[in-house]
Amino acid sequence: MKISRKTKSLEKIMNLFNNSSKAYSAVELISMFNSQMNKTTIYRILEKLQKSGILHSFVGIKGIKWYAKCSGCSSQNHFDAHPHFQCKLCGNLDCLSLDIQIPNINNRTIESAQILVFGKCEKC
Ligand SMILES: [Zn+2]
Ligand SMILES: [Zn+2]
Repeated sequence: MKISRKTKSLEKIMNLFNNSSKAYSAVELISMFNSQMNKTTIYRILEKLQKSGILHSFVGIKGIKWYAKCSGCSSQNHFDAHPHFQCKLCGNLDCLSLDIQIPNINNRTIESAQILVFGKCEKC
């Protein structure tokens, strides 16, 4: 059976995320895979992986969207409340495995929360 191009593209993106715990911005991913697949395909794959509970996304400095691997999420139970750290010098962003409790707010239902911590990373 021939493996479709779509499956191969998905595998390439998955391999990247499986091999590191780093987060990648949409801009970065597009420049990385640009020669192998088009932008629409990349966005479609990212969306699919997000829906399946494999990746999660969040917004960093300048409104840029970032993607990182989920741990223990599924399509039914997708909640990534952990904070993210972005280095102001190199711009690198990663997931922090800290448990931060989002307080309950009267009369409001919280569906998701984003905590972004800025500073200087270990490499800078
Ligand atoms: Zn840095
Ligand atoms: Zn994360």
